[in-house]
Amino acid sequence: MARSSRIPGFHQMTVEERIRAVQEFADLTDDEVAILGRSAVLGMETAQRMIENVVGTFELPLGIVPNLIVNGREVLIPLAVEESSVVAAMANAGKMARSGGGFFASTSGPIMIAQVQAVGMSDPFAAKIRILERRDEIIAICNEQDPVLVGLGGGCRDVEVRVLDSSVGPMVVTHLIVDTRDAMGANAVNTMAEALAPHIEKWTGGRVFLRILSNLADRRLARARCVVKKDAIPPGPHVIDGIVCAWAFADTDPYRAATHNKGIMNGISALVVATGNDFRAVEAGAHAFAARTGRYRPLTKWEKNADGDLVGSIEMPLAMGIVGGATAVHPMAKLALKILGVTRATELAEITAAAGLCQNLAALRVLAAEGVQKGHMKLHAKNIAMMAGATGDEIEQVAERMIRGGKVRMDVAREILSELRKA
Ligand code: NAD
Repeated sequence: MARSSRIPGFHQMTVEERIRAVQEFADLTDDEVAILGRSAVLGMETAQRMIENVVGTFELPLGIVPNLIVNGREVLIPLAVEESSVVAAMANAGKMARSGGGFFASTSGPIMIAQVQAVGMSDPFAAKIRILERRDEIIAICNEQDPVLVGLGGGCRDVEVRVLDSSVGPMVVTHLIVDTRDAMGANAVNTMAEALAPHIEKWTGGRVFLRILSNLADRRLARARCVVKKDAIPPGPHVIDGIVCAWAFADTDPYRAATHNKGIMNGISALVVATGNDFRAVEAGAHAFAARTGRYRPLTKWEKNADGDLVGSIEMPLAMGIVGGATAVHPMAKLALKILGVTRATELAEITAAAGLCQNLAALRVLAAEGVQKGHMKLHAKNIAMMAGATGDEIEQVAERMIRGGKVRMDVAREILSELRKA
């Protein structure tokens, strides 16, 4: 009989019971089960408070990027990422950016947007005005939901209403503009939107369906810029023209822009993960913002200034918190925030924007100069060696011989490994 994924009461089982159920379903060996049951840092109890149906925790390497200066302060950047070269590349680019004093970053403030969608009214434009008439009342209703946030100087700041023409008729969409201080703020603003919904129905005569934040957090922009002096960029100043040209390519072509922005997100997502923030939220915001003109474009800009130096800048939404969500629960996230030395969410967003710009600098310089494969090769060769079965000292030996021979491939790795073992 085919195995069923319908497992009654799965969510009520203990971790051990769930692991046994998965073991049976997927024919896991006892060694594999032992991997599931282990959790060195997070711990099963905390994990179970975070998500449902826990059977284990998932580790990523945490690397530290040295060399960055952000707003005059020396910072170490913790990155949680599975991809080789990301950490090394950012460290290299961080060193280059020191020639111009590092990164200068700012934010537009921790402002989130929540949306309340009302449909089915015959007078959507008048309904919009009826909502706006109650601006102060709306702000009061929202702020009653979160006295802690208001006590910290945050809360609902403003109300905007848009009438949208949709395939199911007009929609009146109310935006709550909320200062969420040091929180990412999803729960905070969702609570406000839900509390407001019945009032919107009463005032508009329509029906409210969705009440949720927008991940296009374009009121919560983080910005950073840097100057790389022309004599601080290897192999030489000529590469600056290549970088500017690479940026222009991305600015004209979404196929290139997607990869350009992926490189930026190598730095950003890895820092977002390391600090326990919501990487899906940040990524959704980044890509929606990149496409805001109707064409998907790069999140950075690269120019050559009058002195012939390279100038880079970035502007993008970064909805990140240092309280709430997993940031305060995950021991590694707390540690990452301490390493960064940040005390405000805005400061975290500033450093994250700088990290994205720095990562982009690294990628564009390599692309405009020697190409990506040379730098990737060493770690890539080690990965291939491990995939071919090399262990311990063998990994380095197999990798080195593959690189020397100019062929980094699984079949070559296997061949070298068997020669090594015979010897
Ligand atoms: P939260 O609700 O855990 O904490 C925020 C609350 O902490 C505030 O409402 C406030 O009452 C309190 N607080 C204490 N000190 C504060 C300070 N210094 N600044 C601000 N608030 C302070 O977290 P959250 O940030 O509202 O929500 C984040 C979580 O929501 C994340 O886990 C995210 O994954 C999740 N989420 C995301 C989405 C989305 O992005 N679409 C949707 C739903 C939920």
